[in-house]
Amino acid sequence: MGDRWLLRGAEVITCEPGQEDLPRGDVLVEDGVIVAIGPELRAGDCRVLDLSGKLVMPGLIDTHRHTWQTPLRALGADWTVMDYLAAVRVKLAPAFQPEDIHAANLAGALEALDAGITTLVDYSHCMASPEHADAALTALEEARIRALFAYGYAAGPGECPALPTHASRLQDARRLRTTRLASDGGLVRMGIALTEMQVPWEQSRAELLSARELGVPITAHCSAWPMPGPSEVQRLADAGLLGPDLLFVHCTWSSREDLERIAASGGSIAATPETELQMGMGFPITGQALRAGVRVTLGCDVVSSNGGDLFTAMRLALQVERGRTNERVGMPKALELKAARVLQMVTLDAAEALGLGRVTGSLRPGKDADLLVLSADALNLTPLNRPRDAVVLQAHAGNVESVMVRGRWVKLQGRLVDVDVAAVRRKVTAARDAVLGRVGGPSALLGERGALASHWDTGRGGATEEA
Ligand SMILES: [Zn+2]
Repeated sequence: MGDRWLLRGAEVITCEPGQEDLPRGDVLVEDGVIVAIGPELRAGDCRVLDLSGKLVMPGLIDTHRHTWQTPLRALGADWTVMDYLAAVRVKLAPAFQPEDIHAANLAGALEALDAGITTLVDYSHCMASPEHADAALTALEEARIRALFAYGYAAGPGECPALPTHASRLQDARRLRTTRLASDGGLVRMGIALTEMQVPWEQSRAELLSARELGVPITAHCSAWPMPGPSEVQRLADAGLLGPDLLFVHCTWSSREDLERIAASGGSIAATPETELQMGMGFPITGQALRAGVRVTLGCDVVSSNGGDLFTAMRLALQVERGRTNERVGMPKALELKAARVLQMVTLDAAEALGLGRVTGSLRPGKDADLLVLSADALNLTPLNRPRDAVVLQAHAGNVESVMVRGRWVKLQGRLVDVDVAAVRRKVTAARDAVLGRVGGPSALLGERGALASHWDTGRGGATEEA
């Protein structure tokens, strides 16, 4: 890299515990790493970016996104979770070819970067072949985003000749871990996404043990609807398999005991407020999980239904939680969940959930320079009072001017750097056309709800409420 950058004169939010914001500070970046933060730094020979009127803060971290669904944008705007499973997991997923996955992950990762997300957990569960996995990974690398590439073990609904058995899927993940993702020092690191744990328990156990053998973080959908019998978390606890390497997704129906189990094990939760609220998964677990001592993080989940930026997710998480509490207590004396706490969920807490707390998630000398520049001089942020709160409650993705990942500008002054955006748009649109063409068009998407019964039991499949 060899680059030295002095970011001069911005409002600096470090997201370091106990550290005050700097109303006018500088950030010095050298060889991808933050080397100093403070007022009026003397930096010698370096490139200077004047950021008067701007705000610098850590890059945001999305802990749950199925990036492969980018070509399906907004198709599921009115879908329940049953509709989603029938259309996306049963019908559309098998129609994706490796080139579609590549287009999806490239466009999706760039969309995330454009919105200030510098680290992404790509829950990549559309693996019909090793080529699908390679394409997904290549696109993340090309986008130059920091990512946990969580290899999805879930099998599709039909025959899968390229990965015909459960063992072959585990083996394919091992292939990547021993080749392209052997290092944990790259921008893209290996993770494992478990199959939903309603599959036979022995299979879940095998998946978890194989992930542990690979020595990578593990993420899993969990308790997104009420289920009979022991919960996933309880089963893992009974088997002695909980741990700090586990990132549970949703947990909207987790019991207090399960939340306490997760907290005691050092595990984390990724809440995805927008999908949870829409699809009938219950309310985001945010407040209960925090009270139980669980590290809570946020994800966008699926742009096939909702938006792909964390400003929206932060705002929804905060205000839904406040609304639920206020409804319970009547007129509150004070608001329990503070805005700044939610900012911590998408920065430092998220980094720690991924085992990246020493690398990213806050601005501190010695950490990688993953940061974003917000236009604090935009009308919707002027005058800038309580900067952290303004970021959570007032900023939007359009305020993200510049984004740096490990010291390299991926977006600068409003434009993605070295990206042919028109070509990316053409590619992801072509993927949309190809995938929808293979399934008979958008009108054919909800025709296979009956096929769901053998794949998922949401425990509430019959419940409908006519709008
Ligand atoms: Zn998900």
